[in-house]
Amino acid sequence: MAHDARGARPAEAGLTGADCPLCRVVAALRDAEMCAHPTEDALVRKIADLPASVALLGYDQTYRGYTLIVARRHATELFHLREPESTQYFQDMLRVARAIANAFQPRKLNYELLGNAVPHLHWHVFPRYADDPDPRRPVWNPTRPARPPVPEEAAVTIAAIRRHL
Ligand SMILES: [Zn+2]
Repeated sequence: MAHDARGARPAEAGLTGADCPLCRVVAALRDAEMCAHPTEDALVRKIADLPASVALLGYDQTYRGYTLIVARRHATELFHLREPESTQYFQDMLRVARAIANAFQPRKLNYELLGNAVPHLHWHVFPRYADDPDPRRPVWNPTRPARPPVPEEAAVTIAAIRRHL
């Protein structure tokens, strides 16, 4: 099968940029600080534009400072990004993780890159706290309702992360 082994292969991903919710978010935030959430009745808030990604405040602020680092380019797997973009994307994530750690002093950070529901590269960086719902287990628990931030809380959290970027 002929294909570019280094490039993104949307046919294999089963999703192209045209119908990808995260591509829509990246496009909407190019010149805006917030946009409609693609699947929830909520807003997506931008924390920062980074060289290979956009950092967004996570929808569930049960974990204060939870952030998504969404690749600017539609790609499904890390190895689909070419160099130096893949390394830059990793560096973007490290920069945000360090800022979250400095801003909130969590006991641990969790880093996840899954893409089962939305196959567009996005790191989840979860700060974990001693008093969070289950500090020694992964965060994913479908029985626990998400806690979207109220606007004032979102603004304070975003400002705290930005101060350390
Ligand atoms: Zn996409």
